[in-house]
Amino acid sequence: MIEELYTPQQMDLGRRARELAETVMRPVAAKYDAEQTYPWEVQRAIQEAGLSGVWIPEEYGGLGGGVLDLCIVVEEFSRACGGMGVGFAVNALGSFPILIGGTEEQKERWLPPIAAGDKLIAFGLSEKEAGSDAASMKTRAVRDGDVFVLNGEKKWNTNGAVASFNTVFAVTQPDRGARGISGLVVEEGMPGYRVGKHEDKLGIRCVPVVEIHFEDCRVPAENLLGGVEGRGFKHAMITLDRARPGVAAQAVGLAQGALDLAMEYTHGRQQFGQSVSSFQGVQWMFADMATQIEAARQLVHTAARTIDAGAKNITKVSAMCKLMATDVAMKVTTDCVQLFGGYGYCKDYPIEKFMRDAKITQIYEGTNQIQRLVIARNLLREAASTGS
Ligand SMILES: Cc1cc2nc3c(=O)[nH]c(=O)nc-3n(C[C@H](O)[C@H](O)[C@H](O)COP(=O)(O)OP(=O)(O)OC[C@H]3O[C@@H](n4cnc5c(N)ncnc54)[C@H](O)[C@@H]3O)c2cc1C
Repeated sequence: MIEELYTPQQMDLGRRARELAETVMRPVAAKYDAEQTYPWEVQRAIQEAGLSGVWIPEEYGGLGGGVLDLCIVVEEFSRACGGMGVGFAVNALGSFPILIGGTEEQKERWLPPIAAGDKLIAFGLSEKEAGSDAASMKTRAVRDGDVFVLNGEKKWNTNGAVASFNTVFAVTQPDRGARGISGLVVEEGMPGYRVGKHEDKLGIRCVPVVEIHFEDCRVPAENLLGGVEGRGFKHAMITLDRARPGVAAQAVGLAQGALDLAMEYTHGRQQFGQSVSSFQGVQWMFADMATQIEAARQLVHTAARTIDAGAKNITKVSAMCKLMATDVAMKVTTDCVQLFGGYGYCKDYPIEKFMRDAKITQIYEGTNQIQRLVIARNLLREAASTGS
Protein backbone atom coordinates (compact mmCIF):
# COMPACT_ATOMS: atom_id res chain seq x y z
CA MET A 1 0.00 0.00 0.00
CA ILE A 2 1.28 3.45 -0.91
CA GLU A 3 1.19 5.33 2.39
CA GLU A 4 0.15 8.67 0.88
CA LEU A 5 -3.05 7.16 -0.59
CA TYR A 6 -4.53 5.82 2.65
CA THR A 7 -5.59 7.13 6.06
CA PRO A 8 -3.45 6.24 9.10
CA GLN A 9 -6.30 3.95 10.24
CA GLN A 10 -6.25 2.11 6.89
CA MET A 11 -2.46 1.69 7.01
CA ASP A 12 -2.77 0.39 10.56
CA LEU A 13 -5.57 -2.01 9.61
CA GLY A 14 -3.48 -3.36 6.76
CA ARG A 15 -0.49 -3.97 9.06
CA ARG A 16 -2.60 -5.64 11.76
CA ALA A 17 -4.44 -7.80 9.24
CA ARG A 18 -1.19 -8.92 7.62
CA GLU A 19 0.37 -9.82 10.96
CA LEU A 20 -2.65 -11.88 11.92
CA ALA A 21 -2.73 -13.54 8.50
CA GLU A 22 0.95 -14.49 8.69
CA THR A 23 1.07 -15.63 12.30
CA VAL A 24 -2.35 -17.24 12.76
CA MET A 25 -3.90 -18.03 9.36
CA ARG A 26 -1.05 -19.19 7.12
CA PRO A 27 0.27 -21.84 9.55
CA VAL A 28 -3.13 -23.58 9.74
CA ALA A 29 -4.52 -22.93 6.24
CA ALA A 30 -3.59 -26.36 4.82
CA LYS A 31 -4.91 -28.19 7.89
CA TYR A 32 -8.39 -26.63 7.73
CA ASP A 33 -8.46 -27.01 3.95
CA ALA A 34 -7.80 -30.75 4.33
CA GLU A 35 -10.20 -31.24 7.26
CA GLN A 36 -12.89 -28.99 5.78
CA THR A 37 -13.73 -27.68 9.26
CA TYR A 38 -14.39 -24.15 10.44
CA PRO A 39 -11.29 -22.50 12.00
CA TRP A 40 -12.73 -21.26 15.30
CA GLU A 41 -9.21 -20.44 16.54
CA VAL A 42 -8.85 -18.00 13.64
CA GLN A 43 -12.25 -16.47 14.38
CA ARG A 44 -11.18 -15.95 18.00
CA ALA A 45 -7.89 -14.37 16.89
CA ILE A 46 -9.74 -11.92 14.61
CA GLN A 47 -11.99 -11.08 17.55
CA GLU A 48 -9.05 -10.59 19.93
CA ALA A 49 -7.28 -8.41 17.38
CA GLY A 50 -10.36 -6.15 17.37
CA LEU A 51 -10.91 -6.57 13.62
CA SER A 52 -14.36 -8.22 13.63
CA GLY A 53 -16.46 -5.15 12.89
CA VAL A 54 -14.23 -3.12 10.60
CA TRP A 55 -17.17 -1.98 8.39
CA ILE A 56 -19.68 -1.42 11.21
CA PRO A 57 -20.25 2.16 12.41
CA GLU A 58 -18.78 3.10 15.77
CA GLU A 59 -22.20 3.70 17.34
CA TYR A 60 -22.88 -0.04 16.95
CA GLY A 61 -19.50 -1.06 18.32
CA GLY A 62 -17.56 -1.32 15.06
CA LEU A 63 -14.43 0.44 13.88
CA GLY A 64 -16.44 2.77 11.67
CA GLY A 65 -14.50 1.91 8.54
CA GLY A 66 -15.92 1.85 5.04
CA VAL A 67 -15.82 -0.64 2.19
CA LEU A 68 -12.19 0.33 1.50
CA ASP A 69 -11.19 -0.60 5.07
CA LEU A 70 -13.02 -3.91 4.65
CA CYS A 71 -11.23 -4.58 1.34
CA ILE A 72 -7.82 -3.86 2.86
CA VAL A 73 -8.39 -6.45 5.59
CA VAL A 74 -9.95 -9.05 3.27
CA GLU A 75 -7.02 -8.78 0.85
CA GLU A 76 -4.49 -9.37 3.63
CA PHE A 77 -6.38 -12.36 5.04
CA SER A 78 -6.84 -13.87 1.56
CA ARG A 79 -3.17 -13.50 0.78
CA ALA A 80 -2.67 -16.22 3.40
CA CYS A 81 -5.95 -18.15 2.98
CA GLY A 82 -8.83 -17.43 0.61
CA GLY A 83 -11.27 -19.41 2.75
CA MET A 84 -10.45 -17.41 5.86
CA GLY A 85 -10.78 -14.22 3.83
CA VAL A 86 -14.32 -15.03 2.74
CA GLY A 87 -15.21 -16.49 6.15
CA PHE A 88 -14.57 -13.00 7.49
CA ALA A 89 -16.08 -11.04 4.57
CA VAL A 90 -19.38 -12.91 4.60
CA ASN A 91 -20.20 -11.17 7.88
CA ALA A 92 -20.23 -7.91 5.95
CA LEU A 93 -22.45 -9.51 3.29
CA GLY A 94 -24.91 -10.68 5.95
CA SER A 95 -24.93 -7.42 7.91
CA PHE A 96 -25.10 -4.93 5.01
CA PRO A 97 -28.89 -5.47 4.59
CA ILE A 98 -29.33 -4.51 8.26
CA LEU A 99 -27.21 -1.39 7.77
CA ILE A 100 -29.00 -0.53 4.52
CA GLY A 101 -32.59 -1.33 5.42
CA GLY A 102 -32.86 -2.09 9.12
CA THR A 103 -34.66 0.07 11.65
CA GLU A 104 -32.63 1.78 14.39
CA GLU A 105 -33.83 -0.83 16.88
CA GLN A 106 -32.75 -3.67 14.55
CA LYS A 107 -29.29 -2.14 14.08
CA GLU A 108 -28.86 -1.77 17.83
CA ARG A 109 -29.94 -5.36 18.35
CA TRP A 110 -27.91 -7.27 15.76
CA LEU A 111 -24.88 -5.18 14.82
CA PRO A 112 -23.05 -4.90 18.18
CA PRO A 113 -22.56 -8.67 18.68
CA ILE A 114 -21.31 -8.96 15.08
CA ALA A 115 -18.96 -6.00 15.57
CA ALA A 116 -17.62 -7.60 18.74
CA GLY A 117 -17.06 -10.93 16.97
CA ASP A 118 -19.38 -12.69 19.43
CA LYS A 119 -21.81 -13.68 16.67
CA LEU A 120 -21.47 -14.47 12.97
CA ILE A 121 -24.03 -13.71 10.29
CA ALA A 122 -24.79 -15.36 6.92
CA PHE A 123 -26.66 -14.24 3.79
CA GLY A 124 -29.42 -16.37 2.33
CA LEU A 125 -30.45 -15.27 -1.16
CA SER A 126 -29.71 -18.17 -3.52
CA GLU A 127 -31.82 -21.29 -3.88
CA LYS A 128 -31.45 -24.55 -5.81
CA GLU A 129 -33.44 -23.23 -8.77
CA ALA A 130 -32.75 -19.52 -8.24
CA GLY A 131 -29.09 -18.52 -8.62
CA SER A 132 -28.34 -15.87 -11.25
CA ASP A 133 -32.11 -15.30 -11.40
CA ALA A 134 -32.39 -14.77 -7.64
CA ALA A 135 -35.75 -13.01 -7.93
CA SER A 136 -37.34 -16.32 -8.95
CA MET A 137 -36.89 -17.63 -5.39
CA LYS A 138 -39.59 -19.85 -3.89
CA THR A 139 -38.98 -19.55 -0.14
CA ARG A 140 -42.21 -18.19 1.26
CA ALA A 141 -42.92 -16.13 4.39
CA VAL A 142 -46.59 -15.81 5.35
CA ARG A 143 -47.69 -13.34 7.97
CA ASP A 144 -49.62 -14.87 10.86
CA GLY A 145 -50.32 -12.23 13.48
CA ASP A 146 -47.02 -11.11 14.97
CA VAL A 147 -44.90 -13.76 13.21
CA PHE A 148 -43.91 -14.75 9.68
CA VAL A 149 -44.17 -18.48 8.96
CA LEU A 150 -41.21 -19.37 6.78
CA ASN A 151 -41.14 -22.39 4.46
CA GLY A 152 -38.60 -23.35 1.81
CA GLU A 153 -34.86 -23.74 1.54
CA LYS A 154 -31.76 -21.72 0.79
CA LYS A 155 -28.77 -23.18 -1.06
CA TRP A 156 -25.09 -22.19 -0.86
CA ASN A 157 -25.33 -20.47 2.52
CA THR A 158 -21.73 -19.57 3.38
CA ASN A 159 -21.05 -19.79 7.14
CA GLY A 160 -24.66 -20.97 7.57
CA ALA A 161 -23.60 -23.80 9.89
CA VAL A 162 -21.65 -21.51 12.24
CA ALA A 163 -23.62 -18.26 12.07
CA SER A 164 -26.02 -17.18 14.82
CA PHE A 165 -27.95 -14.88 12.50
CA ASN A 166 -28.98 -15.38 8.89
CA THR A 167 -30.30 -12.60 6.67
CA VAL A 168 -32.84 -14.49 4.59
CA PHE A 169 -34.84 -13.27 1.62
CA ALA A 170 -38.31 -14.72 1.09
CA VAL A 171 -41.45 -14.04 -0.91
CA THR A 172 -44.10 -12.30 1.20
CA GLN A 173 -46.31 -10.99 -1.65
CA PRO A 174 -46.27 -13.57 -4.47
CA ASP A 175 -48.21 -11.42 -6.93
CA ARG A 176 -45.62 -8.62 -6.87
CA GLY A 177 -42.54 -10.38 -8.36
CA ALA A 178 -39.22 -8.97 -7.07
CA ARG A 179 -41.22 -6.27 -5.25
CA GLY A 180 -42.86 -8.98 -3.18
CA ILE A 181 -39.58 -10.17 -1.63
CA SER A 182 -38.73 -9.24 1.96
CA GLY A 183 -35.65 -9.59 4.16
CA LEU A 184 -35.90 -11.31 7.54
CA VAL A 185 -33.18 -11.92 10.09
CA VAL A 186 -33.60 -15.52 11.20
CA GLU A 187 -31.82 -16.59 14.33
CA GLU A 188 -30.14 -19.93 14.94
CA GLY A 189 -32.26 -22.15 17.18
CA MET A 190 -35.61 -20.80 16.04
CA PRO A 191 -37.91 -23.85 15.75
CA GLY A 192 -38.18 -24.98 12.12
CA TYR A 193 -34.71 -23.64 11.16
CA ARG A 194 -32.47 -26.52 10.14
CA VAL A 195 -28.99 -26.71 8.65
CA GLY A 196 -28.92 -29.36 5.89
CA LYS A 197 -26.32 -30.64 3.44
CA HIS A 198 -22.72 -29.43 3.78
CA GLU A 199 -21.18 -28.94 0.34
CA ASP A 200 -17.90 -30.77 -0.42
CA LYS A 201 -16.14 -27.98 -2.27
CA LEU A 202 -13.18 -27.49 -4.63
CA GLY A 203 -11.85 -24.53 -2.63
CA ILE A 204 -12.55 -22.24 0.34
CA ARG A 205 -12.91 -25.54 2.19
CA CYS A 206 -12.55 -24.13 5.71
CA VAL A 207 -15.85 -22.26 5.48
CA PRO A 208 -19.02 -24.31 5.65
CA VAL A 209 -21.39 -23.76 2.72
CA VAL A 210 -24.70 -25.39 3.55
CA GLU A 211 -28.37 -25.75 2.72
CA ILE A 212 -30.77 -24.14 5.16
CA HIS A 213 -34.27 -25.59 5.51
CA PHE A 214 -37.27 -23.73 6.88
CA GLU A 215 -40.13 -25.92 8.04
CA ASP A 216 -42.94 -23.77 9.46
CA CYS A 217 -40.22 -21.64 10.99
CA ARG A 218 -41.92 -18.90 13.01
CA VAL A 219 -39.94 -15.68 12.78
CA PRO A 220 -41.13 -12.71 14.87
CA ALA A 221 -42.50 -9.93 12.68
CA GLU A 222 -40.10 -7.56 14.42
CA ASN A 223 -37.32 -9.38 12.49
CA LEU A 224 -38.68 -8.08 9.17
CA LEU A 225 -35.95 -5.75 7.91
CA GLY A 226 -37.11 -2.16 8.02
CA GLY A 227 -40.51 -3.28 9.27
CA VAL A 228 -41.94 -3.05 5.75
CA GLU A 229 -42.64 -5.86 3.30
CA GLY A 230 -41.44 -5.83 -0.30
CA ARG A 231 -38.11 -4.07 0.06
CA GLY A 232 -35.95 -7.16 0.41
CA PHE A 233 -34.84 -7.62 -3.18
CA LYS A 234 -33.82 -4.00 -3.49
CA HIS A 235 -31.85 -4.29 -0.25
CA ALA A 236 -30.21 -7.50 -1.51
CA MET A 237 -29.11 -5.81 -4.76
CA ILE A 238 -27.72 -2.75 -2.91
CA THR A 239 -25.94 -5.18 -0.59
CA LEU A 240 -24.30 -6.95 -3.54
CA ASP A 241 -23.16 -3.61 -4.94
CA ARG A 242 -21.46 -2.89 -1.63
CA ALA A 243 -20.12 -6.40 -1.08
CA ARG A 244 -18.67 -7.24 -4.51
CA PRO A 245 -15.49 -5.20 -3.89
CA GLY A 246 -14.95 -7.54 -0.92
CA VAL A 247 -14.96 -10.57 -3.23
CA ALA A 248 -12.67 -8.66 -5.56
CA ALA A 249 -10.32 -7.93 -2.64
CA GLN A 250 -10.34 -11.63 -1.79
CA ALA A 251 -9.30 -12.28 -5.40
CA VAL A 252 -6.50 -9.68 -5.27
CA GLY A 253 -5.23 -11.23 -2.03
CA LEU A 254 -5.22 -14.71 -3.58
CA ALA A 255 -3.39 -13.48 -6.67
CA GLN A 256 -0.81 -11.59 -4.61
CA GLY A 257 -0.33 -14.52 -2.26
CA ALA A 258 0.22 -16.88 -5.20
CA LEU A 259 2.71 -14.52 -6.84
CA ASP A 260 4.65 -14.18 -3.56
CA LEU A 261 4.94 -17.97 -3.34
CA ALA A 262 5.90 -18.40 -7.00
CA MET A 263 8.67 -15.81 -6.77
CA GLU A 264 10.08 -17.43 -3.64
CA TYR A 265 9.88 -20.94 -5.12
CA THR A 266 11.44 -20.12 -8.48
CA HIS A 267 14.23 -18.21 -6.74
CA GLY A 268 15.18 -21.38 -4.86
CA ARG A 269 14.54 -23.85 -7.69
CA GLN A 270 17.59 -24.62 -9.86
CA GLN A 271 17.33 -25.86 -13.47
CA PHE A 272 20.02 -25.70 -16.19
CA GLY A 273 22.44 -24.65 -13.40
CA GLN A 274 20.62 -21.48 -12.45
CA SER A 275 17.58 -20.40 -10.50
CA VAL A 276 14.32 -20.59 -12.45
CA SER A 277 13.54 -16.96 -11.54
CA SER A 278 16.63 -15.85 -13.46
CA PHE A 279 15.12 -16.86 -16.83
CA GLN A 280 13.77 -13.88 -18.73
CA GLY A 281 10.64 -15.79 -19.79
CA VAL A 282 9.80 -16.30 -16.12
CA GLN A 283 10.61 -12.69 -15.16
CA TRP A 284 8.22 -11.43 -17.85
CA MET A 285 5.51 -13.57 -16.31
CA PHE A 286 6.22 -11.94 -12.93
CA ALA A 287 6.06 -8.47 -14.46
CA ASP A 288 2.75 -9.20 -16.20
CA MET A 289 1.22 -10.76 -13.10
CA ALA A 290 2.31 -7.95 -10.77
CA THR A 291 0.96 -5.35 -13.23
CA GLN A 292 -2.39 -7.13 -13.53
CA ILE A 293 -2.67 -7.50 -9.75
CA GLU A 294 -1.89 -3.82 -9.16
CA ALA A 295 -4.41 -2.75 -11.82
CA ALA A 296 -7.05 -4.96 -10.18
CA ARG A 297 -6.22 -3.67 -6.70
CA GLN A 298 -6.52 -0.06 -7.82
CA LEU A 299 -9.90 -0.73 -9.49
CA VAL A 300 -11.11 -2.44 -6.30
CA HIS A 301 -9.98 0.53 -4.22
CA THR A 302 -11.58 2.99 -6.66
CA ALA A 303 -14.87 1.09 -6.41
CA ALA A 304 -14.63 1.00 -2.61
CA ARG A 305 -13.85 4.72 -2.45
CA THR A 306 -16.77 5.46 -4.79
CA ILE A 307 -19.11 3.56 -2.45
CA ASP A 308 -17.65 5.17 0.67
CA ALA A 309 -18.06 8.62 -0.88
CA GLY A 310 -21.80 7.97 -1.12
CA ALA A 311 -21.95 8.06 -4.91
CA LYS A 312 -25.41 7.33 -6.34
CA ASN A 313 -24.50 4.84 -9.02
CA ILE A 314 -22.07 2.27 -7.68
CA THR A 315 -23.41 -0.76 -9.53
CA LYS A 316 -21.19 -0.54 -12.62
CA VAL A 317 -17.87 0.11 -10.92
CA SER A 318 -18.61 -2.53 -8.28
CA ALA A 319 -19.32 -5.12 -11.00
CA MET A 320 -16.25 -4.02 -12.97
CA CYS A 321 -13.87 -4.51 -10.05
CA LYS A 322 -15.34 -7.93 -9.24
CA LEU A 323 -15.08 -9.01 -12.88
CA MET A 324 -11.53 -7.82 -13.36
CA ALA A 325 -10.01 -8.86 -10.05
CA THR A 326 -11.49 -12.36 -10.09
CA ASP A 327 -10.43 -13.03 -13.70
CA VAL A 328 -6.93 -11.79 -12.80
CA ALA A 329 -6.89 -14.08 -9.76
CA MET A 330 -7.83 -17.13 -11.83
CA LYS A 331 -5.16 -16.40 -14.43
CA VAL A 332 -2.42 -15.50 -11.96
CA THR A 333 -3.02 -18.45 -9.64
CA THR A 334 -3.07 -20.83 -12.64
CA ASP A 335 0.19 -19.36 -13.97
CA CYS A 336 1.75 -19.64 -10.52
CA VAL A 337 0.89 -23.35 -10.38
CA GLN A 338 2.65 -23.58 -13.75
CA LEU A 339 5.77 -21.96 -12.28
CA PHE A 340 5.97 -24.66 -9.61
CA GLY A 341 6.09 -27.29 -12.40
CA GLY A 342 4.97 -30.76 -11.30
CA TYR A 343 5.29 -29.80 -7.64
CA GLY A 344 2.63 -27.17 -8.17
CA TYR A 345 0.12 -29.88 -8.98
CA CYS A 346 0.57 -31.61 -5.63
CA LYS A 347 -0.66 -30.78 -2.15
CA ASP A 348 2.89 -30.91 -0.71
CA TYR A 349 3.11 -27.26 -1.77
CA PRO A 350 0.56 -24.58 -0.90
CA ILE A 351 0.18 -23.15 -4.42
CA GLU A 352 -2.58 -25.43 -5.79
CA LYS A 353 -4.90 -24.27 -2.98
CA PHE A 354 -4.68 -20.71 -4.27
CA MET A 355 -5.92 -21.84 -7.68
CA ARG A 356 -8.76 -23.85 -6.10
CA ASP A 357 -9.74 -20.96 -3.83
CA ALA A 358 -9.63 -18.45 -6.69
CA LYS A 359 -12.19 -20.26 -8.86
CA ILE A 360 -15.17 -19.47 -6.63
CA THR A 361 -14.52 -15.73 -6.83
CA GLN A 362 -15.63 -15.86 -10.48
CA ILE A 363 -18.88 -17.54 -9.45
CA TYR A 364 -20.36 -16.23 -6.21
CA GLU A 365 -22.05 -12.90 -5.56
CA GLY A 366 -23.04 -13.05 -9.21
CA THR A 367 -21.06 -14.98 -11.82
CA ASN A 368 -18.75 -13.03 -14.07
CA GLN A 369 -21.20 -13.46 -16.94
CA ILE A 370 -23.75 -11.68 -14.78
CA GLN A 371 -21.21 -8.94 -13.97
CA ARG A 372 -20.77 -8.39 -17.73
CA LEU A 373 -24.54 -8.13 -18.14
CA VAL A 374 -24.72 -5.61 -15.29
CA ILE A 375 -21.88 -3.52 -16.74
CA ALA A 376 -23.31 -3.58 -20.26
CA ARG A 377 -26.81 -2.68 -19.03
CA ASN A 378 -25.41 0.33 -17.19
CA LEU A 379 -23.30 1.39 -20.18
CA LEU A 380 -26.35 1.31 -22.46
CA ARG A 381 -28.46 3.21 -19.93
CA GLU A 382 -25.77 5.89 -19.60
CA ALA A 383 -25.45 6.15 -23.37
CA ALA A 384 -29.23 6.50 -23.75
CA SER A 385 -29.40 9.19 -21.08
CA THR A 386 -26.63 11.26 -22.69
CA GLY A 387 -28.05 10.69 -26.17
CA SER A 388 -24.77 9.23 -27.50
C1 LIG B 1 -19.19 -21.97 -2.56
C2 LIG B 1 -20.38 -21.07 -2.79
C3 LIG B 1 -20.75 -20.16 -1.82
C4 LIG B 1 -21.88 -19.36 -2.02
N1 LIG B 1 -22.29 -18.53 -1.01
C5 LIG B 1 -23.51 -17.93 -1.10
C6 LIG B 1 -24.07 -17.25 0.01
O1 LIG B 1 -23.46 -17.14 1.08
N2 LIG B 1 -25.33 -16.73 -0.12
C7 LIG B 1 -26.04 -16.83 -1.27
O2 LIG B 1 -27.16 -16.32 -1.32
N3 LIG B 1 -25.52 -17.45 -2.36
C8 LIG B 1 -24.28 -18.01 -2.30
N4 LIG B 1 -23.75 -18.68 -3.38
C9 LIG B 1 -24.54 -18.79 -4.61
C10 LIG B 1 -23.91 -18.09 -5.81
O3 LIG B 1 -24.08 -16.70 -5.72
C11 LIG B 1 -24.56 -18.70 -7.07
O4 LIG B 1 -24.02 -20.01 -7.19
C12 LIG B 1 -24.31 -17.89 -8.31
O5 LIG B 1 -25.00 -16.68 -8.25
C13 LIG B 1 -24.72 -18.64 -9.59
O6 LIG B 1 -25.98 -19.23 -9.45
P1 LIG B 1 -26.16 -20.78 -9.87
O7 LIG B 1 -25.13 -21.55 -9.16
O8 LIG B 1 -27.57 -21.16 -9.63
O9 LIG B 1 -25.83 -20.83 -11.41
P2 LIG B 1 -26.85 -20.52 -12.62
O10 LIG B 1 -27.57 -19.25 -12.36
O11 LIG B 1 -27.67 -21.74 -12.88
O12 LIG B 1 -25.85 -20.30 -13.81
C14 LIG B 1 -25.25 -21.37 -14.55
C15 LIG B 1 -24.37 -20.75 -15.65
O13 LIG B 1 -25.19 -19.99 -16.52
C16 LIG B 1 -24.68 -18.67 -16.63
N5 LIG B 1 -25.80 -17.74 -16.81
C17 LIG B 1 -26.93 -17.67 -16.07
N6 LIG B 1 -27.71 -16.67 -16.52
C18 LIG B 1 -27.05 -16.09 -17.56
C19 LIG B 1 -27.31 -15.00 -18.44
N7 LIG B 1 -28.44 -14.28 -18.33
N8 LIG B 1 -26.41 -14.70 -19.40
C20 LIG B 1 -25.25 -15.40 -19.52
N9 LIG B 1 -24.94 -16.45 -18.70
C21 LIG B 1 -25.82 -16.77 -17.73
C22 LIG B 1 -23.95 -18.43 -15.33
O14 LIG B 1 -23.00 -17.38 -15.43
C23 LIG B 1 -23.32 -19.77 -15.09
O15 LIG B 1 -22.14 -19.87 -15.83
C24 LIG B 1 -22.61 -19.45 -3.21
C25 LIG B 1 -22.20 -20.37 -4.21
C26 LIG B 1 -21.12 -21.18 -4.00
C27 LIG B 1 -20.75 -22.21 -5.06
